[in-house]
Amino acid sequence: MQLHTLTAHELLEKIKNKETNAKEICESISRRIKSIDSKVKAYVRRGENKLPSKEAFYDNGTILKGIPVAIKDNICTKGLATECCSHILDNFIPPYDATVIKKLKDAGALIWPDKTNMDEFAFGSSTENSFFGPTHNPWNLECVPGGSSGGSAACVAGEEAVFALGSDTGGSIRQPASFCGVVGLKPTYGRVSRYGLIAFASSLDQIGPITKDVRDSAFLLNIIAGKDIQDSTSADIAPPDFTRSLEKDIKGLKAAIPKEYLVAGIDSQVKKNIEEAIAKLKELGLECKEVSLPHTEFAVPVYYIIATAEASSNLARFDAVQYGLRSKKQRSKALNRLLEMYASTREEGFGQEAKRRIILGTFVLSHGYYDAYYLRALKVRTLIKQDFDNVFKEFDCILTPTSPSAAFKIGEKKEDPLKMYLSDIYTISANLAGIPAISLPCGFTKDNLPVGLQILAKPFDEEMLLRVAYNYEQNTGWHKLRPKL
Ligand code: GLN
Repeated sequence: MQLHTLTAHELLEKIKNKETNAKEICESISRRIKSIDSKVKAYVRRGENKLPSKEAFYDNGTILKGIPVAIKDNICTKGLATECCSHILDNFIPPYDATVIKKLKDAGALIWPDKTNMDEFAFGSSTENSFFGPTHNPWNLECVPGGSSGGSAACVAGEEAVFALGSDTGGSIRQPASFCGVVGLKPTYGRVSRYGLIAFASSLDQIGPITKDVRDSAFLLNIIAGKDIQDSTSADIAPPDFTRSLEKDIKGLKAAIPKEYLVAGIDSQVKKNIEEAIAKLKELGLECKEVSLPHTEFAVPVYYIIATAEASSNLARFDAVQYGLRSKKQRSKALNRLLEMYASTREEGFGQEAKRRIILGTFVLSHGYYDAYYLRALKVRTLIKQDFDNVFKEFDCILTPTSPSAAFKIGEKKEDPLKMYLSDIYTISANLAGIPAISLPCGFTKDNLPVGLQILAKPFDEEMLLRVAYNYEQNTGWHKLRPKL
């Protein structure tokens, strides 16, 4: 058994039995990266893929014993470039670690080999909006890996990492996990500190694990969850041991199937896989019943108003003064050199999608349109949240597809933003409502592309969705299949 193919819990078992160590694990991963990453392009700066120095392989009785973890390029890592895959953050080397990174290091993880590719500032569903060019799906190199955490999902699926962190504002952990056949968990808003995550939409962003199986997902969440005084939106609710309930069965638990999710627009093979997954869960004792989430149809427009509004405000800080790119262009002998510097840097530094979102977001926040768009969207967001509250009065979880289709071809939707935005239909409601959601593999299309099942639960009930997911996974085994590369 090659070490790079194993999960974290399998590796830790081997380390415990003195069958291997962190150094051998990194060597195995390094060989794997050398052999496939020129095709997959999951990592951003492959030049930095040096083996860590000997001292880095510390054990010191830590939980993770020097096991490496791959990190999305929008999570600040001290001394290691963090650019959100944007030209405007050229060579930005954070002087501090995000709280999740600090927690991982304290647990004995190695932040290695590098940062993973993503859509610029996490704007996208395909990783095609990266300044570094697209990542390729390990199941079919002509397809996208999903996005925006496409690099993190692809490196886990391609066995170029043991596990990874991504961020999810509207599906960016779950949709790439589904496209790449791995497990992606978006925790409840407030469960994990956002300190050091470069903000996209602050009321929606969450960091979460992308892993080869459900047990690793629970295990990684244990390490990163919890209140943080550096993030006032992190919740003062003590996280349980998320691995504790995995083994409990699911007999008698109640699952809701929203009727709005399995209708028009869904790919027939995705639908078939989801129906089979539901049938399997019923067999395992889950009681499933159809429900309605009547405001589902408004989720996409509401999200793209709120997310762009917040993004336009968050991105205002990239002004060429404090960090990142500074344009050398002098467009005119303008008197106002400062404005000129802002303008030419932002023009050069932001990609097309970032500019589109800044313009959209500025528009919906502007005088005269604020009430008509932004304020209205906030009200509908409350209605979407109430839909979920109502369902959770009676049900323990909700089952849906993660995405209406499997991975699409590189280039297929890039020039049609509306088509791209509509593909987020099943994932964004969880962010708007702040609830936890997981995507796990539940089969394949005829073209051998993975399909993901999404499970949602009440706020702070990640244990429930991990338990349902684990029961499904252990009784099916889709997670054991890996792409042949
Ligand atoms: N695809 C969505 C968007 O483009 C979600 C991105 C995300 O979760 N970061 O905004």
